[in-house]
Amino acid sequence: TDGLAASDPDVLRAIELELERQQTEIELIASENIVSRAVLEAQGSIMTNKYAEGYPGKRYYGGCEFVDIAEELAIDRAKKLFDCTYANVQPNSGSQANQGVMMALLKPGDTIMGMSLAAGGHLTHGAAPNQSGKWFNAVQYGVRSQDHLIDMDEVASLAKQHKPKMIIAGGSAYPRVIDFKAFREIADSVGALFMVDMAHFAGLVAGGMHPSPLPYADVVTTTTHKTLRGPRGGMILSNNEDIGKKVNSAIFPGIQGGPLMHVIAGKAVAFGEALRPEFKAYAKSVVDNARTLAATLAEAGLAIVSGGTDTHLMLVDLRPKKLTGKTAEAALERAHITCNKNGIPFDPEKPTITSGVRLGTPAGTTRGFGVAEFAEIGRLITEVLDGLAQNGDDKNGDVEASVRSRVIELCRRFPIYGGP
Ligand code: PLP
Repeated sequence: TDGLAASDPDVLRAIELELERQQTEIELIASENIVSRAVLEAQGSIMTNKYAEGYPGKRYYGGCEFVDIAEELAIDRAKKLFDCTYANVQPNSGSQANQGVMMALLKPGDTIMGMSLAAGGHLTHGAAPNQSGKWFNAVQYGVRSQDHLIDMDEVASLAKQHKPKMIIAGGSAYPRVIDFKAFREIADSVGALFMVDMAHFAGLVAGGMHPSPLPYADVVTTTTHKTLRGPRGGMILSNNEDIGKKVNSAIFPGIQGGPLMHVIAGKAVAFGEALRPEFKAYAKSVVDNARTLAATLAEAGLAIVSGGTDTHLMLVDLRPKKLTGKTAEAALERAHITCNKNGIPFDPEKPTITSGVRLGTPAGTTRGFGVAEFAEIGRLITEVLDGLAQNGDDKNGDVEASVRSRVIELCRRFPIYGGP
């Protein structure tokens, strides 16, 4: 019953330092966001104490009437938000949402087809070191070298050749809108199920800035913590009741035990926020800001993979400045601009080095940055990278310090959680 300050100052110190980092750094990691205090409150609530194996109204434990309210709210709001008839809000993460779908609809040894990690796909779509790559016969498609768009001819010919049981669209570093209808047609032509993992762009779908995969996909998975701006977690949606039944059994008791009811309460709150008109404005701003950032960086001589973005994220090819993702990420971090190194399609560098960085606007847009600020952020990034190219990473300290002070100033003008 003691508070953190009295009972565990060491952990409190780590949380305080992390808060200060979030307040004083520009967060450009495309998969991150800044949740509301309401989401934090729900997620930090006493619902963490409750065991609730099963589903609302059909639990294996007593005392579930109030956590049932939270889970029903989350389910109802999710269905409304994405205009579908089925939602499972229990997956503990995006990875477990995908694992749950595979458990529900596939058998080990079945063939699946997803976008390769190197082209911007996710580990759970059949990458070799992931369970999806070890337990299934995973075929991977990529993007075209000339424009970095998904090679739909390759998707069609691989599907014809391998007859996958399931085709997966969606990824972690693909900046363009995916042609769900074309995927559906290819899936139908070989009798495959079609799954879309909209983890990255779910918030844009919710906000009306991105086509919804639900009219085309048999099943849709997502995380809840990226553009959707909820607590860390996963979710599965569908319009097919039979698939819904199978997915429910696959999540519990298939791969998970007791659901994280405090996180589910946080999901309900976040979906409630996403249903409000302000969220539409937010989603529009996320995309406007991403276009501005990409254009600013392109003007400064950086190459943007696929020539731009339709979404919240972009992949910056650093080779025109003769830089690697590893050194660029570190230099930007020293200047309080946080991002991640990321392989670009056909990257000549190893995954631990890379030729690119991935940048996204969801978190910065939440704190209030608009196109003026993102143009400024583009210039600050360019200053660091040009300095790095000129001075090397051991002699770029002055440039990085100068940018850092302007970044902190910008953050001060758009405070989060009451500070800095
Ligand atoms: N699917 C996609 C497309 C993702 O980008 C991610 C996260 O990066 C995941 C799934 C996995 O989500 P989690 O990290 O919650 O397991």
